[in-house]
Amino acid sequence: MTDRPKNVAVLGATGSIGTSTLEVIAASGGQLRAIALTGHSNTRLLAQQAQQFRPRWVVVTDPTAELPVGSLPAGTELLRGPEAVEYVVSQPEVDVVLAAIVGAAGLRGTWAALDAGKTVALANKETLVVAGPLVMKLARQRGAQLIPVDSEHSAVFQAMQAGRKHEIERIILTASGGPFRKHTAEQMAHVTRADALAHPTWEMGAKITIDSATMMNKALEIIEARWLFDLSADQIQVVVHPQSVIHSMVEYVDGSVVAQLSPPDMKLPIHYALSYPDRTPSVAARVDWKKAWQLQFEPPDFDRFPALELGLSVARSGGSAGAVLNAANEAAVARFLADQIHFMEIVPVCRSVLDSHDFDPSPSLERLLELDHWARQEVSRWVGSCSPRL
Ligand code: NAD
Ligand code: MG
Repeated sequence: MTDRPKNVAVLGATGSIGTSTLEVIAASGGQLRAIALTGHSNTRLLAQQAQQFRPRWVVVTDPTAELPVGSLPAGTELLRGPEAVEYVVSQPEVDVVLAAIVGAAGLRGTWAALDAGKTVALANKETLVVAGPLVMKLARQRGAQLIPVDSEHSAVFQAMQAGRKHEIERIILTASGGPFRKHTAEQMAHVTRADALAHPTWEMGAKITIDSATMMNKALEIIEARWLFDLSADQIQVVVHPQSVIHSMVEYVDGSVVAQLSPPDMKLPIHYALSYPDRTPSVAARVDWKKAWQLQFEPPDFDRFPALELGLSVARSGGSAGAVLNAANEAAVARFLADQIHFMEIVPVCRSVLDSHDFDPSPSLERLLELDHWARQEVSRWVGSCSPRL
């Protein structure tokens, strides 16, 4: 580490990953500094964070959100709108961009950061689901580093340091199984929004919590891993591991399996991504090796969780499929959270939109953004054509 603190731009500072990131920064003993914070609509929390961290810039992305005059400390500049995210990430003072905006809305900031050659600590998996090949190409062209924050990908990234790329047989992504791991199909037909929001091991934002309940989160993570690590879909396997202690594994051609373990606490992958390539003491929870404990594994049930097959098929086809699946899922989850569709409709609507789209094997970024828009409209049409239902 150098003497100067690493300047971190935190995109999505008011969310679950954003607030954990600020805890990591606060505990870094001055090695990390929050130079920019962005938030969408929770301006009260954003102002509190600004008072504590005194960043150079605060960005409010929601054009309708109010930020009371005088709520920011002297020396902090207020900027507004998504373009301001692109502006701050490309400033010369920024060393690392922690990308934790939820959904495809996170793509712009990540893209601008990579375009400016910045190191990106990536929590926003949707960016790679939507535009994986283009994002990875941009990173290569600009010599920008992309370090995963998603706990499974952080684990794979760490375990990959035990061997070489061509020596990898497969990676094994672990999944908690979510709140409905043991539900029968009949029980799943009656789950409520509150049931789906009650994750057994992780505390996260609402969208990813619903994605974990449908296992669409694992589907998105298969696609994320496909592009991030340049593996084929057939090299990516999923195993259900309810304790969420082994965060993922790499199996090498000789049969060795290398895993990364830690209690479920996102502060560790965040800390690792921000301090990489160094390892430094962290505030993350520790495994207690003095107590007796057990770790369980079971194969995922592809019948009860059809999102997994969708994820594998999208990882195989590539092209425009990821953008369409992601947008359909974001729209369907928003409808579910608004009590407009049932839990069991989320994955079927995604499949239906995916099947009806005009597949493009090598789309431009503009085409992907058009398809994102189209897929959201298709979900609205689907919901409209099937009501009343609840
Ligand atoms: P969250 O909902 O708690 O926070 C989302 C953040 O994004 C907030 O700061 C919000 O203000 C901002 N935001 C929302 N809509 C926006 C928009 N249209 N434009 C700009 N900013 C917007 O979500 P989270 O759980 O922190 O997840 C963030 C990202 O990290 C997601 O992509 C998620 O998949 C990924 N992730 C989260 C976890 C976790 O434990 N929470 C783990 C792995 C990966
Ligand atoms: Mg994950």
